Amino acid sequence: MVTLRDAVAIEDKWNVEAIYPSPDDWQKDFEKAVKLPDFATYRGKLSEETALKELLNKYFTTDRHLSKLYTYAHLRHDEDVANDFFKKNYAKISALCHKFREETSWIEPEILSLPKEIKLEEYQIFLEKLYRLRPHTLSADKEYILALAGKALDAPHKAFGAFNNADIKFPNLSNGLELTHGKFQLYLRSPDRKIREEAFKAMHHSFAAYENTICELINGEIQRHVFERKARNYNSCLEAALFPHQIDVAVYTSLISSVKSNLPALHRYLKMRKEHLNVAELHLYDMYVPLVADVDFSFEYEEAEKLIIESVAPLGEEYQKILRKGLLKDRWVDRYENAQKRSGAYSSGCFDSMPYILMNYQKTLNDVKTLAHEAGHSMHSYLSNKNQPYQYSSYPIFVAEVASTFNEELLCWQLLSKLDDKKKRAYIINQKIDDIRATFFRQTMFAEFELKLHEWADQDIPLTPALLKEEYYKLNQEYFGPDVVVDKEVEIEWARIPHFYYNFYVYQYATGISAALSLSENLTQENYLKFLSSGCSKFPLDLLKLAGVDMKSSKPIEATIHRFEKLVKELQEILPKS
Ligand SMILES: [Zn+2]
Repeated sequence: MVTLRDAVAIEDKWNVEAIYPSPDDWQKDFEKAVKLPDFATYRGKLSEETALKELLNKYFTTDRHLSKLYTYAHLRHDEDVANDFFKKNYAKISALCHKFREETSWIEPEILSLPKEIKLEEYQIFLEKLYRLRPHTLSADKEYILALAGKALDAPHKAFGAFNNADIKFPNLSNGLELTHGKFQLYLRSPDRKIREEAFKAMHHSFAAYENTICELINGEIQRHVFERKARNYNSCLEAALFPHQIDVAVYTSLISSVKSNLPALHRYLKMRKEHLNVAELHLYDMYVPLVADVDFSFEYEEAEKLIIESVAPLGEEYQKILRKGLLKDRWVDRYENAQKRSGAYSSGCFDSMPYILMNYQKTLNDVKTLAHEAGHSMHSYLSNKNQPYQYSSYPIFVAEVASTFNEELLCWQLLSKLDDKKKRAYIINQKIDDIRATFFRQTMFAEFELKLHEWADQDIPLTPALLKEEYYKLNQEYFGPDVVVDKEVEIEWARIPHFYYNFYVYQYATGISAALSLSENLTQENYLKFLSSGCSKFPLDLLKLAGVDMKSSKPIEATIHRFEKLVKELQEILPKS
């Protein structure tokens, strides 16, 4: 029987009362926010410096107030998603946030339409980021038409979501096991090879049956990107996707070329995988099964906290002190599962709250890693909130996974420093290697495929299932290398990857992990803390430069490869010879 929310001990729950002592207090504050400032009175007046400043002050004050209300409501909602009272509050604040965005949606276009750039000291970076979009912003009436098309252009992405989450059906495996998205990952880790193979084939056959439909959906999504890049006057779809986030196209292309020139490192690992699995042929369904089986790890929650706090010692006493207080005293974390609690894990909060962490802690090694990961996000939020004004406090997506991945790495070091048991060490190292394979190599392959599709679309080359399958298969052969049998079924894998509807998103998994690993190989504590304290007060690549990573160079990639090879070598040494 899962515990009811009311029965959960107070020390196991996050301290949401620190935001509002009671739902009544939230309600009172909500009523104060309901009547939004009259933003419209500023319309047409933003060419005056004082008006612009006043408006931006009001905008950010309101935004800050709403996000405090929103944070409380969404945390309460996630504690028990069936609680009707909090569900209503959550819906109320979501609607108010929506109204706020609608009533202020004219501000950026108006700032961009001003003949002269205004300088305001406290909003300088904010305005600079905006002004650089000018060459790609259209006149008000054209922008209006583009906005009108938005909902219709969402159709391919939404249709794929509906298909993938609801409509597609998978057959059972021959032993009667049910196949679902979630269980697929589990089966690929099964020591029973037959289960792995069957699951792999059944999954891909299911998607192959709809290859024409799915190909049209991807095509629809990509045609949207082509339309938008042409309408907004960009040189390529890639540029159109990256430029608004202040990322250079070179970061993307050099990721691909550096990874490709280092593929032999991956191939050496796969050769070793083949040897240790002791199989005549290494297939694609042999990629996720741990090389060390049956390792019994179990960590009490308190033990996990202790490990994580110890692991961040390289970041200095102050960092460690804040995290210790957050975890042990201030109750950042909602620790365990309870009835109707939201599943998974996340770090969330706002400028005026603690950086809360939702967990469903189950004592596994993976749970400890997850807690370390979320604590990395939370410390990043804490330090940025503390050191930046509101408008610069939230860090950009491009750097979001760096702090979290970095702390996972620190945890890995900490665990290894304490473990003598060879099997356990091998298990941890193996997991780390496979993480790098899946996050760094595999996501770069996705990024390369995604770029190819857009280039073809830009050259009016028709995207057909045959073309996509051929290209995807070729890429797999290249990335997996000579010691892997690239199963025919994989040619359709692109059809089941939701990220191909995210407009050049996946490369950030690879850049995120390589920035984090490169930092861990070469950490300057002071610079790294500066990075964590900078929110979005600089452009993303400059934020990482603060920490000491230049994402335009091939160095972070090389550092990642270096780390990968070191781990492979160590694993090779401790694994029993088969
Ligand atoms: Zn994360």
